[in-house]
Amino acid sequence: MIKYKLICKDCNNIFDSWFSNSREYEKLKKRKYLNCHLCESKKIEKTLMAPNVLNSSNDNSKDIIKIKEIKSKLKEFKKFIKNNFKYVGENFAHEARSIHYNSKKKDKAIYGKASQNEIEDLNQEGIKTEEFPWIDDKEN
Ligand SMILES: [Zn+2]
Repeated sequence: MIKYKLICKDCNNIFDSWFSNSREYEKLKKRKYLNCHLCESKKIEKTLMAPNVLNSSNDNSKDIIKIKEIKSKLKEFKKFIKNNFKYVGENFAHEARSIHYNSKKKDKAIYGKASQNEIEDLNQEGIKTEEFPWIDDKEN
């Protein structure tokens, strides 16, 4: 048995229907045995199933290449940050404040983790932060 999502071209009603196999669907459709429960139209089509859409789309592979490009750029960026910034981990908000309020403290620029709330608080205090996506080393 195979389940298809069918769509009525006249009223856009979408409904599920069971067939013993894909050939049975074609046969019933040819003989006009398929009809819409709502408007009784015979213009019934199979809706595309998601896996088919993904496999048949060539654009998808282009997207994957784009994602790889972006990832490698992010990796370079991450390297730059690591070499030039001091990592403060979860203490980011605290460290950012201590640099901001203690002008004598000549620290390196810092990077670390902060919650959305902490970032908003820092911004309100006039402490500028930049957010960027961080890629795990485990990923390629
Ligand atoms: Zn219909």
